[in-house]
Amino acid sequence: MPELPEVETVRRELAPWLTGRRILSAGRVAAPVGPKYARLERAVGQRIVAVLRRGKFLILPLSGGDELVIHLGMTGVLSPEPPPDHERVRLVLDGDEPRTLSFRDPRRFGRCVVVPRGDYRTLPTLAALGPEPLDSSFTPAALLASVVRSRAPLKQLLLSQRPVAGLGNIYVDEALWRARVHPLLPGRRLSLEAAARVHRATVEVLTAAIAARGTTLRDYRTVNGDVGAFGQRLDVYGHDGEPCRRCRRTLERIVVGARGTHFCPRCQRMPRSRARHSSEVS
Ligand SMILES: [Zn+2]
Repeated sequence: MPELPEVETVRRELAPWLTGRRILSAGRVAAPVGPKYARLERAVGQRIVAVLRRGKFLILPLSGGDELVIHLGMTGVLSPEPPPDHERVRLVLDGDEPRTLSFRDPRRFGRCVVVPRGDYRTLPTLAALGPEPLDSSFTPAALLASVVRSRAPLKQLLLSQRPVAGLGNIYVDEALWRARVHPLLPGRRLSLEAAARVHRATVEVLTAAIAARGTTLRDYRTVNGDVGAFGQRLDVYGHDGEPCRRCRRTLERIVVGARGTHFCPRCQRMPRSRARHSSEVS
């Protein structure tokens, strides 16, 4: 599933190509009527003012006061050529040579909708997103405050997008391994010191992954059809049964909230006693 680095890579490729173009037509192709690909006709006649990103959402402000919001879901791909199958949405843009932007979404977990600018009532995940991980509003204290009242495992909390936007299954595992924090640690047992490590690891892993243009496991491609190069640099995700690169202990895989979760049982020990955590809120 595309996470922040993959969506940011797509955004950077799309921005120079789409910004300033007027939308000549917009509509569903092989997609049922419903909320997933909705209100597209409202975009017709409006110009794309910018190509922005919030968490894993692409947000394209339009000149008429609306926004085109795209989420790639599990397997969504945006491309300048209509794909051979599973095309759900097609935009045609003006210019000396009209341009096409196609949204291919085989499993239909994606979204492509037009909403009034900033009106995310039909997009509750977007409405509730936590801070951008590479913004100054994301701090160790903010991270701690967002999890410290919860008994849920840290992995699950980070996947919720509320403590910080944009992390998915791959980069949560990578960040927690770098931070030496157990994925099952309840939010309420996170110390400020450990929150600082998770904060730093999150920033580091996302920055490195953006520089490598993301991770391709199966479906993700950049707009130009390239694969992301960060897959070779994953330390823990998908490496269960192999030795930890830091301590050589065999990495393990468990399931947390129905998601496969990879960690090192030596580097990422669960703290033994709750009483040892002075920051705990009772
Ligand atoms: Zn280790």
